Amino acid sequence: MDHPNNYNEDNKKVKVCKNDCGKSIYWNNSQNAYFEIDSQQKHVCPKWKPSINNSQKQFSQHDVNVVNTTEEILAKILLMLDKLDRKVDKLGGA
Ligand SMILES: [Zn+2]
Repeated sequence: MDHPNNYNEDNKKVKVCKNDCGKSIYWNNSQNAYFEIDSQQKHVCPKWKPSINNSQKQFSQHDVNVVNTTEEILAKILLMLDKLDRKVDKLGGA
């Protein structure tokens, strides 16, 4: 996958957003965020959904509390994974 042409003029590693939104992004070390190649703006992914949709409305209050807690934990795990992924990217691009 690694190819010399995969670097922009700032020599930053370019990749396609893993959330499948179709944007080419790179890790911006000074801003500590992903930036879009086209717009040079911070990439706020339209497909990034940290929480899970709760479509079932038939839960008792106890079940709802359990579901909310599970969603919170899942959101935290996803956030940690995302941070880890960025750290790996940073190491790989250094
Ligand atoms: Zn994206």
